[in-house]
Amino acid sequence: MVLAELGQKIGQALKKLNAASVIDDKLLQEILTEIASALLSADVNIKYVIKLRDSVKTQVTLQMNSDGQSANGVATVRKLIQRTVVEELTAMLQPAENRPYEFKKGKANVVMLVGLQGSGKTTTCTKFAYHYMKKGWRVGLVCADTFRAGAFEQLKMNAAKIKCPFFGHKKETDPVKIAEEGVNFFKKEKFEIIIVDTSGRHKQEAALFEEMQQVQQTIKPDTAIFVMDSSIGQACYDQAQAFNKTIRVGSVIITKLDGHAKGGGALSAVAATQSPVVFIGTGEHFDDLEPFEAEGFIKRLLGLGDLSGLMKTVKEAISEEKQKNMIENLQKGQFRLRDMRDQFQSVLNMGPLSQVVGMIPGLNANLIPKGKEKEGTDRVKRFLYMMDSMTEEELDCVKPLTESRIARVAQGSGTRVEEVNFLLEEYKKFEKMVSKMGKMSNLAGKKPA
Ligand code: GDP
Repeated sequence: MVLAELGQKIGQALKKLNAASVIDDKLLQEILTEIASALLSADVNIKYVIKLRDSVKTQVTLQMNSDGQSANGVATVRKLIQRTVVEELTAMLQPAENRPYEFKKGKANVVMLVGLQGSGKTTTCTKFAYHYMKKGWRVGLVCADTFRAGAFEQLKMNAAKIKCPFFGHKKETDPVKIAEEGVNFFKKEKFEIIIVDTSGRHKQEAALFEEMQQVQQTIKPDTAIFVMDSSIGQACYDQAQAFNKTIRVGSVIITKLDGHAKGGGALSAVAATQSPVVFIGTGEHFDDLEPFEAEGFIKRLLGLGDLSGLMKTVKEAISEEKQKNMIENLQKGQFRLRDMRDQFQSVLNMGPLSQVVGMIPGLNANLIPKGKEKEGTDRVKRFLYMMDSMTEEELDCVKPLTESRIARVAQGSGTRVEEVNFLLEEYKKFEKMVSKMGKMSNLAGKKPA
């Protein structure tokens, strides 16, 4: 089962709560069984599944009266169940200690990527470089993989595609020497992030560990990132432990989470080693790398949106002035077409649209399905043309968009009336959600109640 399916299944089970007028023991049992079986089929360790089930049961039982019914109303219990499920799944994926290395401006941050052959290490080096280049860092790629024939050409070609400076020697066979030369070269040129791709092997073996240690001792990276293929599921635990023991792994990137039945197992197993997962690979394109933050990930997986992730994204992309207004409005539960336009404008600069849209509660996957980035980007652009054709009052939602105004907007933006109506429908959904969230919580800090 791929992770999206897992999310859908748990989401569907939770949705049953919305339809229920009474939440009794029987319904609770039914929902928990569905959630547990979805987690087990995604290869999540049974220990976590039992813990989640018990924790939800305990929380809810405390809310029930002696008739086995909710004493505090269905809505309260529903929220409690949803929150406990999110909290338990988040705790499962979040190591209590060990923070990942944070890149520092004004210095050369050296990162070494290690992993077995075929794990997706070389692809991940490129995705990783691309991620930081888009954020404005000066990034250089070093190919110190001398073991796999073709690794040099592959990284060189990838680097050219993303326009990232590259260092490597096709004929050099000593990985330590190339790694050292490459790091020194980029340091001298004042690069800020230097990514070193190292050799893999088909399996864990002494020669691999020895080589990794030598490279690490020579280039003294600020952090080593272990790249691991999710297809081995719970076996990730042993692999991560073995790498950890040999070369002080700072964090982990789990790849191929787009198509694997064992994704849930891989994630929970890595978290159990107390190694922080920093990114996940979700496809073969250079854009398919998602920063990993447990709570946001779980909320998006369950289709609940990820407001703190969205806030962070917005903060990175919008001017402080606009940011302040938007956050104030969101906190008040206010959302105008103007806010939607500002968000879409910034979203266009942020890359993987499906990721960003997934953070927005209520909008989710239907707007920009994964794999349809191009269509998604075009659609957002057309939304922007439409909003650019609106008057200030229309954007501020003080003048309703009547039929004749809609026709004018369509004509002015070179779009169709149906498209403008679709935009307004999406806006209404979004606005409703923001107004609900605004009432429920203080978005600046507290978690939604
Ligand atoms: P390396 O031997 O560890 O350097 O592995 P490569 O980077 O050459 O990747 C091996 C294969 O996995 C390639 O076909 C990649 O396109 C593919 N790959 C890497 N990351 C992902 C991912 O996140 N999702 C999918 N579906 N494929 C991936």
